[in-house]
Amino acid sequence: PAKGGPLLKVDRLRKQFGGLVAVNDVSFTLHAGDIMGLIGPNGAGKSTTFNLISGVLPATSGRIELAGTPITGWPSRRIARLGLSRTFQHVKMIPDMTVLENVALGAYLRGRSGTLKAMLRLDRAEERQLLAEAQRQLGRVGMQHHLHELAGNLAMGPQRLMEIARALCSDPTLLLLDEPAAGLRLKEKQALADVLRQLRREGLSILLVEHDMDFVMGLTDRIVVMEFGTRLMEGTPQEVQDSPAVRAAYLGT
Ligand code: ADP
Ligand code: MG
Repeated sequence: PAKGGPLLKVDRLRKQFGGLVAVNDVSFTLHAGDIMGLIGPNGAGKSTTFNLISGVLPATSGRIELAGTPITGWPSRRIARLGLSRTFQHVKMIPDMTVLENVALGAYLRGRSGTLKAMLRLDRAEERQLLAEAQRQLGRVGMQHHLHELAGNLAMGPQRLMEIARALCSDPTLLLLDEPAAGLRLKEKQALADVLRQLRREGLSILLVEHDMDFVMGLTDRIVVMEFGTRLMEGTPQEVQDSPAVRAAYLGT
């Protein structure tokens, strides 16, 4: 969709785990070109919302639309092909492989069924293409000088950037980031925010879960606040900061 048009529409999305309602009829719209924040206390249902949107978990009810296409009930691979990519709350990597290899492997697994048999069939040209794509995406996140370091030796900030590069390998239009700034030092957070702003300038839309309020307030265009599975409010960072309901429920002031 054109910049500013609705890219992701979530309509009365619901997820129950037995008797527990983890996501309780949540609705919001993310507009193309925006960075949207999803905040709320631990257990509010943020990661579950990500899992529903990305097709990792099936919704109990509700509707999800991506770029005008209803994707409710679609498997994650099909949603990814439509332009959605995500990272997980905990970094996934193979520590004994280089940064470049980790990202190339991620790009490869995204495109395949991921069986060992398929992996063994990778030919030279295909491998070169994957490595070139990985290198390109690592450059986009400012990791061009870390290509040949072992992933396990990276500090937390560069680890997160590596994850984002891997998510970029499918050339998504919408990126879902689950707590990308968790555990980062101030400098690393600033570097991450700069990368995300640059991606936004390149036309990418981003939905991110984050606890660090300064990070969220300084980066996002709009924010959805969740509490106990429900949407407490949606608005600009300023509106969220000024909301008495949010202050009471979340900021504790
Ligand atoms: P958040 O990311 O906001 O901290 P989550 O979405 O991870 O919250 O969890 C919301 C609620 O759903 C929590 O009470 C959590 O224990 C529960 N939950 C999450 N995933 C599962 C699951 N796979 N099975 C059962 N309960 C779950
Ligand atoms: Mg979570």
